[in-house]
Amino acid sequence: TVVVGRRVKSRSKWKRVVGVLEELEATCDTPVRRLRQVVDAMAVEMHAGLASEGGSKLKMLLTYVDNLPNGSEKGTFYALDLGGTNFRVLRVHLGGQRSLTLKHDVERQPIPQNLMTGTREGLFDFIASSLKEFVEKTDDPDELAPRRKELGFTFSFPVKQTSASSGVLIKWTKGFSIEDMVGRDAAESLQQAIDKIGLDMRVSVLINDTVGTLAVGHYQDPDTVAAVIIGTGTNACYVERTDAIIKCQGLCTTSGSMVINMEWGNFWSSHLPRTTYDIDLDADSPNPSDQGFEKMISGMYLGDIVRRVILRISQESDVFGPASTRLSMPFKLRTPMMAAMHEDSSLELTEVARIFEDILEITDIPLKVRKLVVKICDIVTRRAARLAAAGIVGILKKIGRDGTSGIAGGRSRADVKLRRTVVAIEGGLYTSYTIFREYLHEALVEILGEDIAPHVILKPTEDGSGIGAALLAASYSSYDTDANL
Ligand code: BGC
Ligand code: MG
Repeated sequence: TVVVGRRVKSRSKWKRVVGVLEELEATCDTPVRRLRQVVDAMAVEMHAGLASEGGSKLKMLLTYVDNLPNGSEKGTFYALDLGGTNFRVLRVHLGGQRSLTLKHDVERQPIPQNLMTGTREGLFDFIASSLKEFVEKTDDPDELAPRRKELGFTFSFPVKQTSASSGVLIKWTKGFSIEDMVGRDAAESLQQAIDKIGLDMRVSVLINDTVGTLAVGHYQDPDTVAAVIIGTGTNACYVERTDAIIKCQGLCTTSGSMVINMEWGNFWSSHLPRTTYDIDLDADSPNPSDQGFEKMISGMYLGDIVRRVILRISQESDVFGPASTRLSMPFKLRTPMMAAMHEDSSLELTEVARIFEDILEITDIPLKVRKLVVKICDIVTRRAARLAAAGIVGILKKIGRDGTSGIAGGRSRADVKLRRTVVAIEGGLYTSYTIFREYLHEALVEILGEDIAPHVILKPTEDGSGIGAALLAASYSSYDTDANL
């Protein structure tokens, strides 16, 4: 009877575990009809954000970039990319012909944790000195250009631009929090640090990483109309008609279009499938109520959602053995580890076991429980990828490229002339997490339909946030392009 009793007990415990999983699966559900609601909400919020300042959680920030690189850019330009876990310095040589491969040197450095939450001066002095070192190392003594060097600065946070080369930080995201920087001009902060250290260089453009990605995408393929980043954070930008940017009120140029930095990470809609884990993660974050879409999608957060689900299960059962303090530590389980577990193709799921041991100090979890972990990763990633797909279609809808515009006017879907539409895409989740990418593509086809989907091309660009800044520095160079060899 003792044995029977124990079995009954463990069976009911397992039932509770399954209950948690089923509840997660149900609340994360993203059937195509829900995704379409997200698409519509995205397009509606885009309109609202363009209509007035503060009209939507979607900021729809003006970039003042109205001139994307076309391939004729020439010369040597520098770029500095700050925004995720690393910062990078680049030196890019542009040959003036699109087809030429861009020659460049890169140096990547992790940003010391204390600088991410320190002072404005601390961060920028550190960056400027790394920049100086890099310039000294890569400077070509044979080069005939004893003029001031030009730099494109990619600063991947929400910035209220005042021109293509200036703008103030609205707020931090992705774990940065340097209070004395909020409200300050990012380009000016960098320029001051550069001047202080005695480097002869001008910050000639200040851009978001999505804008750099769009620039590289457009440089390589002129059908590129939007760019998406799904990495540590997530965001998108696209080319908008100036007359659709109501809030511009004469501030916009007359060239007919401008790149809009959507800051879609802050998108919110009641149609988003939100769980208690999301609510807790948000409450524990340094930016509660902000970046709601980002917190469901990007690399900074997915691993932590999974950790929270596992923690809950470990509190309700003993399937993960005795309580592990590691499991209670925020961000202990990072998204690359989650992806490795999710993509573990070994029969015994040995990678899952190894990561549990190494990272969480949880040993000997049975195969059945390892499978459960993989399932949790799958649910969380699938939701993220499908929501990102809905976001992309939201942009296409706004610019009339989703294949539905015109139908209301009485034309059938088949009559609508479909134009090739390219969306440049970057970020570790998309490029390095195969299952994520596959779920995203699958959802795009589901939402757009088999007939429209082939006209929409997601094109991974490489190093858009770095090279794109150099390209834009060239487009906006104060020197004549031809003289700039
Ligand atoms: C930032 C965006 C950025 C995105 C991707 C978000 O957290 O707010 O400006 O483009 O991350 O790096
Ligand atoms: Mg980046």
